[in-house]
Amino acid sequence: MNRVLAISPHLDDAVFSAGGTLARHAIDGDEVTILTCFTGNVANPQGFALACQLDKGLSAEIDYMALRRAEDLAACEAIGAKAHHLPFLEAPHRGYADAKSLFAERKETDAPIVADLRAAIASLYDKLRPSIVYGPLCVGDHVDHHVVRDAMAEQSAGVPVVWWEDFPYAMKSEAVSEGVVRRPLDAPSAAAKLRSVLCYKSQLGFQFGSAERAADILSQWTMEGFVGGDLAT
Ligand SMILES: [Zn+2]
Repeated sequence: MNRVLAISPHLDDAVFSAGGTLARHAIDGDEVTILTCFTGNVANPQGFALACQLDKGLSAEIDYMALRRAEDLAACEAIGAKAHHLPFLEAPHRGYADAKSLFAERKETDAPIVADLRAAIASLYDKLRPSIVYGPLCVGDHVDHHVVRDAMAEQSAGVPVVWWEDFPYAMKSEAVSEGVVRRPLDAPSAAAKLRSVLCYKSQLGFQFGSAERAADILSQWTMEGFVGGDLAT
């Protein structure tokens, strides 16, 4: 039995990018945990942070992160994974003031966040003793994904780390990133992934257009891409 740890920047990345592979681990009897890093609340978000909520059709009164954490619990259950949430704040709460800045230069003020996140991940390594770890390759270059990847560097030696091709960014980019191996999902894994993806109701319109469109896209994109690690699981 493997003890699988997937380290997700946001509440959806691990499932969108590697949900079928994680479902396969669970079907095979592996213990799967999805750790999501940026799930913290901010009371009364303002500016761009508030806009990120409003543009998904959610009014200012709604606790956006609580809603997304609940979606994540359902999504993890759908693929047989345990959910673990860390209270780090997403980039719009750390001074990134517009959509463009999320994919541009990192702020120096993120350095202590990387250090704190590295410590939080290390303590989960101690607790879970994972035998395989998954994390973001950072296709699409979202600053939060890079923060997670940096925090995952220098963790326990000897544990294989597999980097997932971030989805749906991978679908939107013209070239396949260097070293990525795309593997087809078997039918039960693809079905579990679709059930899981559809739990992230608040994100489906923004990421795919609609829930129907997400289902349509995933019925055609039945593969996941990875770099590194022992892929013969
Ligand atoms: Zn993300």
